[in-house]
Amino acid sequence: MLQDKDRIFTNLYGLQDPFLDGAKKRGAWNATKDMLDMGPEWIIQQVKDSGLRGRGGAGFSTGMKWSFMPKEVKDRPHYLVVNADESEPGTCKDREIMRHDPHLLIEGCLIASYAMRAHTCYIYIRGEYIFEREQLQKAIDEAYAKKLIGPGNIHGWDFDLYLAHGAGAYICGEETALLESLEGKKGQPRLKPPFPAGAGLYGCPTTVNNVESIAVVGTILRRGAGWFKSFGRENNFGTKLFCVSGHVNRPCNVEEAMSIPLKTLIDTHCGGVRGGWENLKAVIPGGSSVRCIPKSVCDDVLMDFDALREHLSGLGTAAVIVMDQSTDMVKAIARIAYFYKHESCGQCTPCREGTGWMWRVLTRMADGNAEMSEIDKLLDVAGQIEGHTICALGDAAAWPVQGLIAHFRHEIEEKIENYRTGPAVHAVPHMAAE
Ligand code: SF4
Repeated sequence: MLQDKDRIFTNLYGLQDPFLDGAKKRGAWNATKDMLDMGPEWIIQQVKDSGLRGRGGAGFSTGMKWSFMPKEVKDRPHYLVVNADESEPGTCKDREIMRHDPHLLIEGCLIASYAMRAHTCYIYIRGEYIFEREQLQKAIDEAYAKKLIGPGNIHGWDFDLYLAHGAGAYICGEETALLESLEGKKGQPRLKPPFPAGAGLYGCPTTVNNVESIAVVGTILRRGAGWFKSFGRENNFGTKLFCVSGHVNRPCNVEEAMSIPLKTLIDTHCGGVRGGWENLKAVIPGGSSVRCIPKSVCDDVLMDFDALREHLSGLGTAAVIVMDQSTDMVKAIARIAYFYKHESCGQCTPCREGTGWMWRVLTRMADGNAEMSEIDKLLDVAGQIEGHTICALGDAAAWPVQGLIAHFRHEIEEKIENYRTGPAVHAVPHMAAE
């Protein structure tokens, strides 16, 4: 188990002063100038050596991503954009960083921007995060006032940091849709290539990183890449914020070592599954867009990128949604399907049409009002959406359905069987109208 001395987010629960005095006592802004004096290449190498993989879901090497930026600034300025849109259902980790430890994020923005030779950084925060926006803006104002950032700051790298507010669309968490929104346009994903490192915000070299990925950088450089790498296992290093919700006794956000067994995470920090471990039915381990895993997998799976991928699921945002035996899996996945149908931006046909089609079929299946042959048809349609769209929302809509059929096909079949032979059950509430 991770010890308190090894936690990066030591004010995760807001028990201390979130602002500059408190942040400095916790170590933020300590030796930041020394880090910058080591030069951009040193910083990028340290981040690479630490093994940090992006904390927003995709898990790509952060240092590697930074190294894709041009080494020299030519005719176009460079930008860092921080993705604080945090809209993945079940995920509420970046929120805690911005509320309670905003200076770790601001310091990380300066360091990362310097490493990528950017003088300007935008933090794109979801519109619903009003308190977080206020906290973060207050901390940014403090940093400007103390000349930690801004023109002519004490760190010797002119740097402006702006907070931009989204308007509540899930798709703006997709990096190119986020850039469109930031430019004042409708938040729709762009076709790639070009990738943002070549042509991102306003057509300039841009890197988009998740809040947690940026907020850990200062501590990694202060304590050393080797320290960060001492947690987790090969290719899955470091500490990680986990958000555990659903049928546990104490839902929580907690920083733990990567690769912690799922059962240990739930038993140690959440007081166990409601009704005991044997009452567990399934877990969605990485936010609603990954495939669920049944209890037999949960028994000994490790919480990291590679272990969960071996089970055809994913660590995603590390938002662990726990479901006990009382859960109607078909209804649960139908609800998730509704979310993706609602959030599809509509640009590509498989996603625009397919998400609605899957939701309608799942809604009928939740009642049992379907044919057995439709289960394979549903699987087929999910496969036709997956990998055939502009952005990953298509995959995010398909994977939960695939997970349902892979592990809980028998529940769909039982419902269909019961519908044929018994009295009709109620329609899935709040979704039947559309
Ligand atoms: Fe829009 Fe869906 Fe296509 Fe993404 S996959 S661009 S959300 S229609």
